[in-house]
Amino acid sequence: MNKNKLPKYPLIWQKDDFFIKIYCSIPNIATGIVITTDKAKFVVDPGDGILRDLNKDYSKKEILEISDIFISHGHHDHLGGLWSLLTYLSVMKRKKPLNIYYPKGCPEIQSIYSAFISVYSKEIEYPINLINITDQKGFALDGVQVTPFKVNHREPNEFGKAVEVPSLGYRFDYDGKSICYGGDTAYTENLVKMAKGADLAIIEAGALTDEEAELHMTIEQASKIGETAEEYFLVHVPEN
Ligand SMILES: [Zn+2]
Repeated sequence: MNKNKLPKYPLIWQKDDFFIKIYCSIPNIATGIVITTDKAKFVVDPGDGILRDLNKDYSKKEILEISDIFISHGHHDHLGGLWSLLTYLSVMKRKKPLNIYYPKGCPEIQSIYSAFISVYSKEIEYPINLINITDQKGFALDGVQVTPFKVNHREPNEFGKAVEVPSLGYRFDYDGKSICYGGDTAYTENLVKMAKGADLAIIEAGALTDEEAELHMTIEQASKIGETAEEYFLVHVPEN
């Protein structure tokens, strides 16, 4: 992609009190997103740097109010900042439970959680609820209707073959408005369905060539899906 067409982070969108800030979404580096309403404070994909970014915008008290974290998949650029965020919440004496939603079978999240609990079990004062998502059933949190949906993300195995990894997108509906985040995915009808008519769609365009479209979407594929929403951001675009 032409350098001056690259997304300029942070990307911010707001309608009334429904707010989203995408601190960044750069392949192999980091994605980090915060979604808030008057009542809710969610983090989506806590990639490397998420704590630093939150700390610039929010007070300690506000960071402690984060109730739920949503993970799209286990690649390091989508959850590399989770350890420091969990540790910060412990050091700051958080007491209230924290929910972490993730696609069932994601080995990275289960490993980070087990390691974290074994290191900090003596000092941590807040329960962490790991909630693995197996289906596309929606649920309500602080007035926000959350609908996870399966997407189609892959990684090369030791033989260079692209194998599927547990991966989800999430749609957030609040006060008659909706945000659809597809996570990382190749073209999938599920995302087409969920992005359609959303007030904001956040669509990855990580494939530079048609050959890479097995793992990610090309700008053309992503834009086509984005255009079915009221507004859209293309994210996860390779910088070089
Ligand atoms: Zn990925």
